[in-house]
Amino acid sequence: MPIESIDKDIRNTIIELGGTDAYKCYQCGMCTALCPWFQIENVNFLVNRIPHNVKLGNIMTSEVKQEIDKEVEELFRCVGCDNCLAYCPRGVNIGDVVRAIRRILVDYDSLPKTLKDIIAKVYSSGNPLGDAPEKRNNWAKKFDLPLYSPDKEYAYFACCMPAYDNQVRKIAEATIRILLTARISFGITSDDVWCCCETMRNYGAEKLFQDTAQININAIKQAGINKMIVSSPHCYTAYKNDYSELGCKVEVIHTTQLFAQLIKDKKIVPIKPLNKKVVYHDPCTLGRQNNIYEEPREVLKSIPGLELVEIENFNRKDSVCCGAGSGGLWLDWQKGERLSDTRIQQIIETGAEILAVSCPYCMQMFEDSVKTMDINLEVKDISELLAESAGT
Ligand code: SF4
Ligand code: SF4
Repeated sequence: MPIESIDKDIRNTIIELGGTDAYKCYQCGMCTALCPWFQIENVNFLVNRIPHNVKLGNIMTSEVKQEIDKEVEELFRCVGCDNCLAYCPRGVNIGDVVRAIRRILVDYDSLPKTLKDIIAKVYSSGNPLGDAPEKRNNWAKKFDLPLYSPDKEYAYFACCMPAYDNQVRKIAEATIRILLTARISFGITSDDVWCCCETMRNYGAEKLFQDTAQININAIKQAGINKMIVSSPHCYTAYKNDYSELGCKVEVIHTTQLFAQLIKDKKIVPIKPLNKKVVYHDPCTLGRQNNIYEEPREVLKSIPGLELVEIENFNRKDSVCCGAGSGGLWLDWQKGERLSDTRIQQIIETGAEILAVSCPYCMQMFEDSVKTMDINLEVKDISELLAESAGT
């Protein structure tokens, strides 16, 4: 391509918005082969073309509306799992490059409708489901829990999904049963704390992320929270990595980290045996992105009778994304084109009877896949398995 055809404005804007890594790429193609989409036959997601196109200032290659729609859809395919980053010989962070491109697309209102609707819902209600903000803590009513106050050691934030969605509420409920049994000093966060918006940031809604981050940081500061327990790896990474850069000082602990410690301290004792074969799925955001691999396994191994098996070649840092990250949870991928189905296929090959998860998004994706694939496999959060074994 002649140098005068390069759209320098677009190229420079992508670079300014965080896509600098595009320049490091030397087109080896490793990322395309390592991307989870490569495992799906019908999909041809050429990841290595992304940095190449950035260098040319070329987000869209077509001027035909239908073709542009397809290209936009492709750009929202990346789930931000960082599998490509883990093996790229040049350390190119494709997630950052894609996020920079999407920020431009979001600014031009060029994004899938469901993701656009989510932005509006968070602005109007503080959560992606669009439910009333004052109902955020309704799930906890039956436990009669106090709100966090500075005399408590921890605040618990359940994540919007367990708080509002019946399908995954059981994660928050099991967690509360464990915290109560272990006599942890805690209160729940008030409804002033909104969605963390990590996912929205990854799909390009940077302004929404910045606005909600400020709301949450202020709410946490005002409540005097120093330590916060979270059930979602997405909330975990938002507070630990993104909010801390914005001056948030809270110490954030994922439930699996806390549970492993409680077991070590004998504050919670799993006694009821579970004589089943269990496989653990490493969520990208907890594992690859935050290096938390062992604590979830330690919790599972502490349950008497439980046989922990691994997904050969695709565990720990080689885990395969469930497809929910970066807005994938809300996108309607066709049958035969779902990452969660591919992952379930790998899980079935282990012979496991239970799939253990540690992320509300993973749970939703896998439960849906198990149902549509008509497979006999239980999907359970680690909190549920521990709560059951500890007789809470
Ligand atoms: S693996 Fe890295 S260097 Fe190779 S094509 Fe992909 S981004 Fe470029
Ligand atoms: S971050 Fe994950 S989904 Fe996105 S391009 Fe890399 S491997 Fe593919």
